[in-house]
Amino acid sequence: MPFYEYRCKSCGQMLTVMQGIKEKPLVHCDNCNSDSLIKMISRTSFDLKGGGWCGTTASNKAKAQSSAESGAATSCACNACPHKQ
Ligand SMILES: [Zn+2]
Repeated sequence: MPFYEYRCKSCGQMLTVMQGIKEKPLVHCDNCNSDSLIKMISRTSFDLKGGGWCGTTASNKAKAQSSAESGAATSCACNACPHKQ
């Protein structure tokens, strides 16, 4: 279940709640007892960005590794590789 962060426009209170995607966004702030909560950027989208960053790093590393290997070896398993003999 994704986390959502809310901030109260009225008192500045921050809170993080775990909600289902279909649940209504919260509006009521218990701290100042007003309906002033606004939804912040969700933790879910942050996680997706993090995963993309990790994926890019991993694939770059794999690429660097395979090019280093193909440079040292006389052949490699990649059919498209120019070093294949
Ligand atoms: Zn408040």
